[in-house]
Amino acid sequence: MGRITLSKVNKTFGATTVIPGIDLEIENGEFVVFVGPSGCGKSTLLRLIAGLEDTSSGKISIDGRDVTGEAPAKRGLAMVFQSYALYPHMSVYNNIAFPLKMAGTDKAVIDAKVRDAARILNLTNYLERRPGQLSGGQRQRVAIGRAIVRAPSAFLFDEPLSNLDAALRGTMRLEISELHQKLGTTMIYVTHDQVEAMTMADKIVVLQAGNIEQVGSPMDLYNRPANLFVAGFIGSPR
Ligand code: ADP
Ligand code: MG
Repeated sequence: MGRITLSKVNKTFGATTVIPGIDLEIENGEFVVFVGPSGCGKSTLLRLIAGLEDTSSGKISIDGRDVTGEAPAKRGLAMVFQSYALYPHMSVYNNIAFPLKMAGTDKAVIDAKVRDAARILNLTNYLERRPGQLSGGQRQRVAIGRAIVRAPSAFLFDEPLSNLDAALRGTMRLEISELHQKLGTTMIYVTHDQVEAMTMADKIVVLQAGNIEQVGSPMDLYNRPANLFVAGFIGSPR
């Protein structure tokens, strides 16, 4: 569970081509980082995978199943938004439980799943608090908890740490990497930050103007950058 395949995926907005027709294979359990400068199409690509945008042409499949055109909720993926997407008037418990309540899940099942996610994220003692009574890092963990309870086949992160200060960003990077190790679930992580890409990824996808410039491990990109753009962006000598 968690293998994602893109075949000739193309996205245009009006006359503008943002994603020009790309192929990409994401293996089950991989931590994949989409990295590139602002405006290169990272969020669009992630939203296409999530189903929040429709492809203009091409095909997306998850675990061999064609999901092109399928609604986001049916894809079995979970998008982790920045922590400000939490509901301020609800407790941490209810924020985490929210997607399960919406799905009509049985109360006892919800309770077990929320407590399980809280344990994994060290939030057990904070379940009755409101988001406003938490630190930035705790709030980000609540946002992740809301994804965990759905037991997705992949987690999709779009610059989840960009509104945190530098020190907290470092801590959260480690926490997300640890979470990946604990869960073993496919994660796709979008960032414009080369350090995040190099320290977190199993596989980095370097994007420029919607094109994939290179796909490889941090070592591959550092030691064998495909072109000057990758070399310059990753910062390796060439
Ligand atoms: P990134 O996440 O890498 O910063 P985006 O995927 O947000 O880049 O955007 C890629 C390009 O697509 C940008 O030029 C942006 O202006 C354009 N774009 C994104 N969403 C829309 C939209 N809904 N309508 C028109 N243009 C869009
Ligand atoms: Mg973006």
